[in-house]
Amino acid sequence: VSEVRPVVIRGAVVGDEVVDLRLADGVVAAVGPDLAASPGDEVFDGTGCVALPGLVNGHTHASMTLFRGYGDDLPLMEWLERWIWPAEQRLEAEDVYWGARLAMAEMLRTGTTHLVDMYWHPEAVARAAVDAGIRATTAAVFFDGGDAEAGRRQRPQVLDTLDALADAGPLVRPAVGPHAVYTVSGDSLAWLAEVADERALPIHIHLSETADEVTRCRAEHGESPAAWLDRLGGLSERTVAAHGCWLDDADLALVAERRATVVTNPVSNMKLATGRTFPYPAAVAAGVPVGLGTDGASSNNGLDLLADLKVLALAQKHAADDPAVLPAEEALAVATGQRSAVLGGRPLEVGAPADVALVRVDGLGVAPSAPAAGLVYAATGAHVEAVVVAGRVRVRHGRVEGIDEILAEVRHRAARLRR
Ligand SMILES: [Zn+2]
Repeated sequence: VSEVRPVVIRGAVVGDEVVDLRLADGVVAAVGPDLAASPGDEVFDGTGCVALPGLVNGHTHASMTLFRGYGDDLPLMEWLERWIWPAEQRLEAEDVYWGARLAMAEMLRTGTTHLVDMYWHPEAVARAAVDAGIRATTAAVFFDGGDAEAGRRQRPQVLDTLDALADAGPLVRPAVGPHAVYTVSGDSLAWLAEVADERALPIHIHLSETADEVTRCRAEHGESPAAWLDRLGGLSERTVAAHGCWLDDADLALVAERRATVVTNPVSNMKLATGRTFPYPAAVAAGVPVGLGTDGASSNNGLDLLADLKVLALAQKHAADDPAVLPAEEALAVATGQRSAVLGGRPLEVGAPADVALVRVDGLGVAPSAPAAGLVYAATGAHVEAVVVAGRVRVRHGRVEGIDEILAEVRHRAARLRR
């Protein structure tokens, strides 16, 4: 077992002060002025930088880097049914592994320390997370096409996968991943919710992404996707509901009552023209926990959460016709997972996990700015200097290791899948 060197970050902005941070044993060990570094500590000069808790990408399909730029500019269902789902039939676990490695390298490089993922071959995603050194909440995507019997046949496999993910180490948290209410039968949704309850796992699902999803759910089940999911036991404080664009006020009240988190994905929603901006002001007024995600690289096409944070803030201001909506500090709290218990973000205080992004705010493109406004409205992931996950340095001087091999693997695998 290799020793992890403690890390000292000198003179970075944390909140509204300039302080030193010492990271040791996987946690923030000290915060304060003029901390002494011990021999063997790795020291970073944080002058001109903000030290942020690592960004939390609350909804993604990491391995879909394999399909970046594949079938762009198409309607959602046509894109899924004619392009993505057929190509995914050809996926092997090694494809998923390398696609996830590319996504994780990009996420680390741009300040993300935790992703909430849903995809095929989640054991391969978990292995990629361990090798990359990033935290991952990992779910197998579950489809039964509304066929409860087909869903029942998949149950042993679901349990085996959850067991395997539970053994993947401290960076990996297993989750259940019903794709959506329109692709999973009520029986399967209820069973997955039960499994999640028994094992205290997150439930990661797409919810009220499109108007069509809501119309179909009301026609088939007589209620909205949120109400239907709740009836089946799937809405709890461990639920991560992606998108939520078409949640109405009654849905928001229900989601808030259950303490379920909505993860908004503004770039994916705008690219796929979901037709309605996630009603963030109403959600917050109702008390809904909120997070930010990129969605997969095939519908974004980047994985730079700082870039998407600007889009989130602008989209919300524009939709509300109010520039005071979602100010910069609040936007940062959303992107660092601090507005949701299941996403688990915490301020950089003693005892918090040593998940840190050091972002330069004194250079071209950002200076001079107040730190929060600089990060939200001017900086991108390109301004990230260093990233630490669970006390280990994963980005130094803006570089992650192993990129050439990862890119070569992904290029040849993507070519095979896109035929
Ligand atoms: Zn998605």
